Amino acid sequence: MLRRYRCDDCGGTSPVCITDGSLLREARRHRILAHDGLIPDGERVVDVPVAKLVDVPRGQLVATAVLFLVLVVAVAVRG
Ligand SMILES: [Zn+2]
Repeated sequence: MLRRYRCDDCGGTSPVCITDGSLLREARRHRILAHDGLIPDGERVVDVPVAKLVDVPRGQLVATAVLFLVLVVAVAVRG
């Protein structure tokens, strides 16, 4: 799961963190730099939604598949 560290007190958000370790490092770094090592009341973790193939509307998926097949046939005919 992709997440970001967010501090509402400062209005800042970290880059996307891929691992728990990177998220904890972002939190620690921010606490030290902006809050003298204290834990701000407004800190939280924000989930970053990840697009999935099944989230794509079915019509859009079919249109993409048709376009792909047309391109494959066009390349095969020229080729
Ligand atoms: Zn802050």
